[in-house]
Amino acid sequence: MSICSEWDRINPEEYVGVWAYLEVEDGSLSEAGLQMLGVARLLASQKDTYVGAVLIGRGVSSLAREAIYYGADRVYVADDERFEKYYPTLYGEALAYLAKEYKPEALLVAGTMRGREFTPYVANILKTGITADCTSFEVDSAAKDILGVRPTFGAYLIAHIRTLNRRPAIFTARPNVFPTPQKDLAREGEIIPTNPKVVDAVGVKLLGRSRFGRGAAPIEKAKILVSGGKGLGGKEGFTILEEFAKVIGGEVSGSRKAVDAGWITHDRQVGQTGKAVRADLYFAVGISGAVQHLFGIREVRCVVAINKDPDAPIFDNCDYGLVGDYTEIVPALIKAVKKIKASPQLITNFVNLNINVVNLIKGN
Ligand SMILES: Cc1cc2nc3c(=O)[nH]c(=O)nc-3n(C[C@H](O)[C@H](O)[C@H](O)COP(=O)(O)OP(=O)(O)OC[C@H]3O[C@@H](n4cnc5c(N)ncnc54)[C@H](O)[C@@H]3O)c2cc1C
Repeated sequence: MSICSEWDRINPEEYVGVWAYLEVEDGSLSEAGLQMLGVARLLASQKDTYVGAVLIGRGVSSLAREAIYYGADRVYVADDERFEKYYPTLYGEALAYLAKEYKPEALLVAGTMRGREFTPYVANILKTGITADCTSFEVDSAAKDILGVRPTFGAYLIAHIRTLNRRPAIFTARPNVFPTPQKDLAREGEIIPTNPKVVDAVGVKLLGRSRFGRGAAPIEKAKILVSGGKGLGGKEGFTILEEFAKVIGGEVSGSRKAVDAGWITHDRQVGQTGKAVRADLYFAVGISGAVQHLFGIREVRCVVAINKDPDAPIFDNCDYGLVGDYTEIVPALIKAVKKIKASPQLITNFVNLNINVVNLIKGN
């Protein structure tokens, strides 16, 4: 069955392999792309097929072996001066060209700023479906399909989305929703140099690129996060959280209600419509624990909840729970940490305690 009579006909049976596009960030493979490679590996093993990785850029060939160590069986490399600078249309065309040429069944792209920008071009050129923001995947072995699973209607429903009759099925997932795979130096694979034909018909010329100076580090990379919710009662509540974050070497983030109230900016929002984070330690302060918020902390190693309502759902989703008013608990924590930091012996005890706590959580 053809969805649109003008589209070229394809035979889905001819499409094999699960691909992940690997974004390059400051000369290294981005963590978000590697996470997609990890998903591709799992899906490919269920489908008994190969994992492909795509690298586009200038000087990216040197990263191909690294992609194999992280799970790729074949690495398709488009390395030349045309790709020195990233343009969404150019990269989109290159990836679409490679997909047409090598016919993968599925293509996974991390939902970073770049991924969200250029993946629709790929889908449009290939006239195929794109399922954005997947939170898991399923393989339907009877229909030989890969389904993207994602919450919808405010996470009240979980949609299982199939791409009918078009290939590759394209999926995106936000950074940190899936774990980063382990590097295995014993892995072997094939590196395939490619030469995509691109026209870049849009004709946009990039004159320069500059980074926005950020006041704080991005929350998706923070190891410790102190997150505030509606329970803070006002913007001033974040002043206490900022002090706490500073003494424990963390960053501040928040719930959507805190963002909607204007107490913290949207780039610091954790959750389904914010960011997924993977801190080692996450303090949820005055946050009830709505499913959309919990979505953003599934990869966090240790969650500490501070809430005055003992029945708040966050207490079913944390490692440690402190019941009480945050205006009493957080200043007490600040005081305690300052005291520990002032005494070298206490620091040793504190570090040992932390190691024990982490081991306990990991079940060692
Ligand atoms: C489509 C959709 C997408 C969404 N995306 C997101 C998202 O990305 N991120 C997100 O966070 N939410 C998201 N939400 C909203 C989500 O459903 C919740 O409404 C939101 O997470 C609640 O924020 P909160 O926990 O800060 O506030 P509340 O649910 O109002 O909870 C406040 C908590 O603070 C506690 N509290 C009050 N006073 C104190 C005090 N003095 N000391 C200690 N505790 C106190 C209360 O007991 C309560 O548990 C989304 C909703 C929809 C429909």
